[in-house]
Amino acid sequence: MKFSNYRIDEKIKQALDEMGFKRPTDIQYKSIPNIQNGEDLLAVAQTGTGKTAAFAIPIIDRIHFGKKTRRRKDGTKCLILVPTHELARQILAVFNKIGKYTLVKSAAIIGGVDQEPQIQALKEGCDVVIATPGRMFDLISQGHLKTHRIDTLVLDEADHMLDMGFIDDIKDVLYKIPKRRQTLFFSATINDVIKKIAYKIVRQNAIRIQISPKDPVSKNVSHFVLFVEMDHKRYFLERVVKENEKQKILVFVRTKVRAERVAKAMERVEIEALTLHGDKTQAQRTETLKSFKEKEECTLLIATDIAARGIDIADVGIVINYDLPTETENYVHRVGRTGRFNKKGFAYSFCAKDEKPILDEIQKFLNAPIEEIKIDKDAYQETLNIERDRKQDINAVMEEIEDFENRKKRKKKK
Ligand code: ADP
Ligand code: MG
Repeated sequence: MKFSNYRIDEKIKQALDEMGFKRPTDIQYKSIPNIQNGEDLLAVAQTGTGKTAAFAIPIIDRIHFGKKTRRRKDGTKCLILVPTHELARQILAVFNKIGKYTLVKSAAIIGGVDQEPQIQALKEGCDVVIATPGRMFDLISQGHLKTHRIDTLVLDEADHMLDMGFIDDIKDVLYKIPKRRQTLFFSATINDVIKKIAYKIVRQNAIRIQISPKDPVSKNVSHFVLFVEMDHKRYFLERVVKENEKQKILVFVRTKVRAERVAKAMERVEIEALTLHGDKTQAQRTETLKSFKEKEECTLLIATDIAARGIDIADVGIVINYDLPTETENYVHRVGRTGRFNKKGFAYSFCAKDEKPILDEIQKFLNAPIEEIKIDKDAYQETLNIERDRKQDINAVMEEIEDFENRKKRKKKK
């Protein structure tokens, strides 16, 4: 079925057509009619399969219809909660694109930036609010964000939003918005504990949609693991980067400090890297992501797990787990930053001895082994020698400089 045959407003069809969306993806095909029927939904589908539009299309359509026919009073109707500022912005961009020709107005309510423009947007009227919890609570308590007309609640990356770090916020939100509402959960992963929590929040007859439950990562991604020593990881990163010059490569590390350290190590071998983590200001984070997305020369981004969920950059060709993720399901989300929609992608995990148990957990989680790239002794040594040769080069240059300086000194003395 094509979008042109859908029971949605022509204005939306026109936007979808311009975006190049002709046919719905599986998750869109299954979700859209159910959302249109007012059902609660627990939707699980692989990374990069179009979950955003799966909720955006029917939500925009309903709000647009309500405004067009003046059947509904003004006010914020839909609240979408997400874990990171970047994801909020990205979803806002999708709503603005799909809703381009409609009467629907959306805004991102996120921390780390000036709240005045957000307050202004709310004053002018926002049908859809895409928020991270902190700033949302601020603006609710200041009276700028009114919640009494909200009738649709979406949790994107739902399992993460219902996990320890966010669940108290979500409980508070549930107190603040009307009980009569439609609740929609979207994610690529969900475990049994979280599922139980989710079922307490949705209505009893909620519909569960699960696309390929056994395979949470898009099948467009090929996974590999390399067994390397912890201290040698940077040489292998250098090698992958140099062998894939034109590719966009996203590297995940365990901590903020490590992100900076790895970037420094790359700098030393003349590889420029961007870094993205929680110690950066929001302005820096936004700028970094923009550069990585748009600038041809910015091909390497080193990030912590804040970039693991939801971020959609079309042409990331390779994801590298420089450190294996401490939370098993984050493997799925990290490598899901490549191979999006119908693109192909590669994921390489650098596994040190100490990380072997994590790798085992991940393979159990994936229900499949990750193929090993066997590195024979010579190839391994060769990779390390890139560094040794380079050191020798630098030593030679340093000697030359010293020589030159000495000669200068001698000349002066004369
Ligand atoms: P998910 O949330 O499932 O990880 P996204 O919603 O971020 O995936 O979508 C992944 C990519 O697929 C986006 O770049 C989006 O523009 C594209 N996409 C989504 N639906 C369609 C469609 N029906 N036709 C073409 N491209 C689509
Ligand atoms: Mg998503």
